[in-house]
Amino acid sequence: MHSSQMLINGEQVSSHSGKTEIIRNPANQEPVAEVYVGGREDARLALEAAKSAFPGWSETSSLRRAEILHAAAGLVRSRAEQIARLLTQEQGKPLKNALLEVLASADVLDYYAEEGKRNFGEWIDSGRTRSIVLRQPIGVAALITPWNFPVDLLAWKVGPALAAGCTIVAKPPSRAPLAATELLKAVNDAGLPAGAANVVHGPGGEVGAELVENPISRKIAFTGETVTGRWIVAHAAAHIKRLSLELGGQSPFIVAEDADIEKAAAACVRRAFSNMGQICVSVNRVYAASEIAEEFTSSVVRLTQRLKIGNGLDPDVDLGPMFSESQREKTKAHVADALQKGAEVLSGGCEPEGDEYSRGFFYLPTVLTNVDHGMRIMREETFGPVAPIMRFESLDEAIRLANESEYGLAAYIFTNDLKTALRAAERLEAGGVGVNVNDVVDIQAPFGGWKQSGLGRELGRSGLEAYLETKHIRLAI
Ligand code: NDP
Repeated sequence: MHSSQMLINGEQVSSHSGKTEIIRNPANQEPVAEVYVGGREDARLALEAAKSAFPGWSETSSLRRAEILHAAAGLVRSRAEQIARLLTQEQGKPLKNALLEVLASADVLDYYAEEGKRNFGEWIDSGRTRSIVLRQPIGVAALITPWNFPVDLLAWKVGPALAAGCTIVAKPPSRAPLAATELLKAVNDAGLPAGAANVVHGPGGEVGAELVENPISRKIAFTGETVTGRWIVAHAAAHIKRLSLELGGQSPFIVAEDADIEKAAAACVRRAFSNMGQICVSVNRVYAASEIAEEFTSSVVRLTQRLKIGNGLDPDVDLGPMFSESQREKTKAHVADALQKGAEVLSGGCEPEGDEYSRGFFYLPTVLTNVDHGMRIMREETFGPVAPIMRFESLDEAIRLANESEYGLAAYIFTNDLKTALRAAERLEAGGVGVNVNDVVDIQAPFGGWKQSGLGRELGRSGLEAYLETKHIRLAI
């Protein structure tokens, strides 16, 4: 069985307490690996190591840092099959998707290797003085990540932090730490100085809390639930730490009467159900114009019923199990609440039948109709494979409903009319709007949330700036 140690000061180490846990496959509960579980003491050691490595790494030229990040990307690619298998076994997603996630993380490292070279300053002529503006690394950055995309979401932080000259301590999710740890090991093996990149396993309430509260970390980059984000804001306040928070979402998907129905239905099905709906930018609420609602809904149902669900290691499956019993319970509770308030199930709405599903956290992709905003499914983040479809009469009504949420991460509109597209895109309250496309993630563009979906941006140029402080040097001449 695979054994996963932590990485502190360039060494693979067991935890201070020696405690271990078994990671199990959510498809069948089989043991996948034994993982060392750290605590506050291990987090402190990792922070000290990152602090010691900071002067050397921050003064390493951006060209050399780029070489190391490119080498790291190469190592991730060469180990991609092995990392992806661990990812599928600990998280549940189909192997082909796990592989794409690992390869995407290598692309992020390559991107920031180059972007780090373009950390330009400014020169300002103020008459009798000159001003130089520098952008310098913040210091030690703590990177705390969730289980739904444990590799990619970590790479979004590791790449820009190291490219900027920060040193890092990563805390992967407790129940899916394996592939993320392998990512960091590859980065370390690429020639980083000891202590520049550290990984500590362990509970959020201990290891995560130490990383947030200890004054050594000057930056916290976190992806996870809004409730955890609030806790981090409150506790990082003691030292006014720099924060990047990517939190929950409840993304609306609007289909206008002039949309290409088949394309919109396919896009909706993919973004509502892939990764079993456990994506922060998943389609959570669908608003279909009443003129096309029936045709659109029947296309969604037809495409949903074609999806094959099973163990992620089976090459033919489109969907794996959910990550945990608690995720499945939450999904069931949201569906039950909707049904009790008058919703109708058009597809799914229960667990699949058969022996192969009996030991995993499986749930059928579910399409609901007759839904309204009185139901939890339309207001809370389900983080499960459910597409509730509601009709609307006018674009204004659809935009009002879409914005009726405390979240503002992603929103989607499908239309063939430029005016409708622009009107919706400008008025939707979200950090990313997809027009005729079901994804708002692009490595070169800023990603993040409005309202309670977050603070700051990852990816693109903004992703690098999130790890930099600005300094003004004023020269009398
Ligand atoms: P959690 O907030 O529960 O956990 C995220 C990470 O934070 C884990 O590593 C967790 O550790 C750690 N953690 C928990 N408590 C603390 C604490 N007090 N201090 C520091 N760290 C802590 O989120 P989930 O893992 O459940 O992930 C799902 C959530 O992530 C969803 O709400 C989803 O919307 C959101 N998400 C947002 C994205 C975005 O970009 N906006 C992208 C993907 C997901 P442990 O594992 O030990 O609990």
